[in-house]
Amino acid sequence: MKQGQMETPCYVIHKAVLDQQVALLKKALDDNWSNYIVGYSFKTNGLPWVLMQMKTAGFYAEVVSEDEYNLARYMGFSHVIYNGPVKSRESFLDALTRGHMVNLDAEQELDWLEESDLRDVQVGLRVNFDLEAICRGETSSGEEGGRFGFSYETGALHRAAKRLEEMGVKLSGLHLHVSSRTRSIKIYRALARMAVRLKQEYGWNLSYIDIGGGYFGGMENKPEFPAYMEAVREELSAGYTPEETTLVVEPGTSLITPPVEYLTAVVDCKDTYAGRFVVTNGSRSDIDPLHGKSSYFHKVGYALADPHGSYRIQETALGAWEEQAGPAADREIQSRQVICGHTCMENDRLFVMEGEPALRPGDVIAYRKVGGYTMCLTPLFIRYFPPVYVEEAGQLTCVREKWSTEEYVRKSHFRDAF
Ligand SMILES: *Cc1c(COP(=O)(O)O)cnc(C)c1O
Repeated sequence: MKQGQMETPCYVIHKAVLDQQVALLKKALDDNWSNYIVGYSFKTNGLPWVLMQMKTAGFYAEVVSEDEYNLARYMGFSHVIYNGPVKSRESFLDALTRGHMVNLDAEQELDWLEESDLRDVQVGLRVNFDLEAICRGETSSGEEGGRFGFSYETGALHRAAKRLEEMGVKLSGLHLHVSSRTRSIKIYRALARMAVRLKQEYGWNLSYIDIGGGYFGGMENKPEFPAYMEAVREELSAGYTPEETTLVVEPGTSLITPPVEYLTAVVDCKDTYAGRFVVTNGSRSDIDPLHGKSSYFHKVGYALADPHGSYRIQETALGAWEEQAGPAADREIQSRQVICGHTCMENDRLFVMEGEPALRPGDVIAYRKVGGYTMCLTPLFIRYFPPVYVEEAGQLTCVREKWSTEEYVRKSHFRDAF
């Protein structure tokens, strides 16, 4: 690991904030369903340093592809939850052989299982049901319906369970992960209620109920882990007890979104007929790769002196800027400043500042709560991956160096052809 100065643009992970989220989740589970397993969703942010933190916290790896499965093994996770509709046969059988928890999501997986001689394994079925009917306008797929899991309504779920029974494999659990637009408590009540209903209807004796991920975490005026877990306990208690059934949760964004900031620096300010553009060295691609957000949590750090100098964490740590924003007082007020990224896309614009002190080269703009679905989705567009630092007690450590030409060309074959 490298210690010391930081370069922008970069991500900064505030370790204390991450620890706080992990502790809050554990306490919420301890208080409500002491028999639990947390599977950290690799796809949300699979940065190796983050994965090691989650492993250290005692969490399982929650993976949804062969690549992620291999990464979990590489990172030394001894417990894996293998989900997703497209698993490779080899990794599927490997996971079962090693006793990992595998939630089936395709007919093909039942075939693979049947063809193998594996019988004493831990398998669950992912449940597909009409959640939209219960939580109108809340699911990501809406009226179109979701494609994951075996359908309750068509009988596919029951048939899958029957197939397992016929081949002599115990159905260990149900997987109910659903992504929603609202991340509301009501969604989780509905999922838990569905788990109870399935048990009552089919008489299944389940050793785990996996309620999935998709929670809010660390967002103002939004629910937190205790409220979700309390609701899940209330509903689940109608059919299950912690003595007999393990509650599995698979958080991603609620753990890793709050601790991460993205720091960028102002490079140029230019006036055109249309107004003032402030060009920064960051990009919308790094904090909003799907270009789906309409606003970003951000804060502005007006440079004190040495505008082109590098910033030390003491100047950029959460909250420290507010006290240091003094120099802005003697800057002229600009009626409108459009903050833009470095790429050559016109839509690489981040936000507009109105009636604020004029920005200058060397000022810093930080975007907060950007740890989920950012680093893992940023493209290698125009510039390579930025560095990532961890801030702990004011000390900075580099946990991923900026990608260079070397990493970019690594797996390419081109020399022999010329
Ligand atoms: C994406 C995903 C998660 C995590 O979702 P978050 O919104 O990041 O909490 C959990 N389980 C499964 C099966 C997923 O696909």
